[in-house]
Amino acid sequence: MGIRSIENVDFRGKRVLIRVDYNVPLNQNQEITDDTRIRESLPTIEKIIGQGGVVILMSHLGRPKGHDINFSMMPVAIHLSQLLGKNVIFDRELFSPRTKDVIHNLPPGSIALLENLRYYKQETAGDPDFAKQLSELADIYVNDAFGTAHRAHCSTTTVAQFFPGNKYCGFLLENELHNLEKILHAEKHPFTAIIGGAKVSSKIDVIKSLSNIVDNMIIGGGMAFTFVKALGGKVGSSLIEEDKLDIAQEIVAEMMRKGVNLCLPTDAVIADAFSNDAQTGWSEADNIPDGWMGLDIGQKSIKRFADIINHSETILWNGPLGVFEMEKFKQGTKSMAISTASATIRGAYSLVGGGDSVAAINKYNLADQVSYVSTGGGAMLEYLEGKELPAVKALEE
Ligand code: AMP
Repeated sequence: MGIRSIENVDFRGKRVLIRVDYNVPLNQNQEITDDTRIRESLPTIEKIIGQGGVVILMSHLGRPKGHDINFSMMPVAIHLSQLLGKNVIFDRELFSPRTKDVIHNLPPGSIALLENLRYYKQETAGDPDFAKQLSELADIYVNDAFGTAHRAHCSTTTVAQFFPGNKYCGFLLENELHNLEKILHAEKHPFTAIIGGAKVSSKIDVIKSLSNIVDNMIIGGGMAFTFVKALGGKVGSSLIEEDKLDIAQEIVAEMMRKGVNLCLPTDAVIADAFSNDAQTGWSEADNIPDGWMGLDIGQKSIKRFADIINHSETILWNGPLGVFEMEKFKQGTKSMAISTASATIRGAYSLVGGGDSVAAINKYNLADQVSYVSTGGGAMLEYLEGKELPAVKALEE
């Protein structure tokens, strides 16, 4: 039967346990610096409380080792309450033995947020007893946490087995899957993938599987230098993964066989240190002097990549093209964000995903000018690699 949407479910009088992904960034003052994930969860919550259901939200936040006040969900509860204009029930004891009583006595339309699930080591262990305890809080289970869908944890996976006939995917998860399917079965070509970031090791599988469906594969960021070196280039002290040189060579050969247009940077902004205060210069990407490192793609590459993006009908972007956090090395990433947005305005379909590329598209205020921004990094990559996501599988009836 597959997985079911909440769209046509009537939640009146029901207690609904929702796994959300509120693993949001906080600064030293415990202030949320990016609330995208919270805002994206609102449609599901609003539908359920609007119909007179009780919402019980659960999430993890960071990687606490046991109970640690610095990882409390309290700031999230306050923020959520402001966004909804409604009280969100939270106290540090939630989740505790008395939680069940509190939850079972909530009036229709109430919202409760449990304390950080990762205070309990049973959560990541997928412990069935812990999952059962969670399941006793509610009549219905909804998963709306795409960002953790690749994790087989208690709240994402094990708990679902206690809700046969009563488990659903929320609007956010449904939307994510719908948009990723659009990428995997792209109808509009040319299809261009832009893959960047620091490490090639984390992107090898996705590059390989995308090479079956894309026309153009743009590779930038630190990872591009492993490819440049594998092809015989001189990359100075740029980021390199020596143990991935062979696989990089294989990928290049495979793309040639498949007729994929592999686009590596041909020039780079180079620096004599990994710092915004470093001396900078320009170099061919395959002839970087000793002692210098490539920290962004150069103007020639920007122009070539932008031209390809401008002629594309489907665009997938994951990972920055340079060290965009530093002013001197942001231009490549910024230009790709602008090109992707303008291709979208022209009618192309574009999906941007992965923590850093989302941060970049937000930084340049272009998030609403691309077709879809995914809230998942690892989960998105695994889905595009063709892997089954345990949390999605667990929703199958
Ligand atoms: P990832 O998590 O693998 O997507 O990598 C994101 C990080 O890659 C960002 O923090 C960027 O600053 C970094 N990055 C991008 N380009 C380079 C580069 N040429 N050298 C070193 N780091 C880079």
